[in-house]
Amino acid sequence: SIPISYFGGIGRASKEGVLIKGGNYLDVLYQSNVFVFDKTGTLTQGEFKVIKTVSATGFTKTELLVAAAAGEHYSNHPIGKAITAYAQQDVDETRLKNYAEIPGKGTQVQVDDQMILAGNRNLLRDHQIEIADSDEEGTLVYIAINGKLAGYLVLGDQIKDNALSALQGLKRLGVKKTVMLSGDNAGVANQVGKKLMLDEVIGDCLPQDKVAAFEKIKVENKDGKTIFVGDGMNDAPVLAMADAGIAMGALGSDAAIEAADIILMKDDPMDITKAVDIAKYTRRIMI
Ligand code: ADP
Ligand code: MG
Repeated sequence: SIPISYFGGIGRASKEGVLIKGGNYLDVLYQSNVFVFDKTGTLTQGEFKVIKTVSATGFTKTELLVAAAAGEHYSNHPIGKAITAYAQQDVDETRLKNYAEIPGKGTQVQVDDQMILAGNRNLLRDHQIEIADSDEEGTLVYIAINGKLAGYLVLGDQIKDNALSALQGLKRLGVKKTVMLSGDNAGVANQVGKKLMLDEVIGDCLPQDKVAAFEKIKVENKDGKTIFVGDGMNDAPVLAMADAGIAMGALGSDAAIEAADIILMKDDPMDITKAVDIAKYTRRIMI
């Protein structure tokens, strides 16, 4: 049987827009001491904006944008959507073939006889296109046409308003370690990590790297529960592995809502802190 106060806890949480899929997760939150976060859409708004475009020698800005718009036409990733909105190109779907999304890397599509790639350095490296180090600040999306670099777009995202206070609140509630895993480049990930005073940041993570990093953190945490917070874009497996997986419900994907144990209907990081607070309160009145 479930102690009556669990219903109180779940009810209070649901009034805050936090849906908890069972009383046992209140117990997990009560014992939580390590929180691992995804970056994009979780600690940041996940609403990218194109800040700048740079076309490579031999390519015009229009050629770059036409290719970028084709590459991202079918993408649901916040990066893809931002590029589509910025490029403002009419894309003829009858000319697009063999679209593929490569998790943690980008997209590829064929336009007539042209092969378009849109993604990060790892994606281009897979196609033997080497990209030199860059000191641009932001998320870089490289565009290649038929194996040649056509240029890149620089995108920016913003940290959520409540992210810092939510993380500080967790620390006050006794959380000993906060970590961020990101598929974004290490430069951007470290900047966000510094602003949010996270204890540890791991950037350039492919989806399988996130799984491996989370597994290690969970195994090393002997004296409490390890929580993962994500938006489900490339992190549903980690949501499922965590002692409790918390997903963003408004921006997040169906896969995230399915894989998660706790869903934040308002995508507000402060609601995580509220949920932990409620779990501690519920436990106190049970004892
Ligand atoms: P995060 O871990 O920050 O939530 P993702 O795993 O969703 O990030 O994506 C990681 C990286 O993969 C992005 O920063 C970007 O470089 C690349 N990427 C993913 N999807 C796309 C896309 N549709 N277009 C271009 N690049 C993409
Ligand atoms: Mg994400």
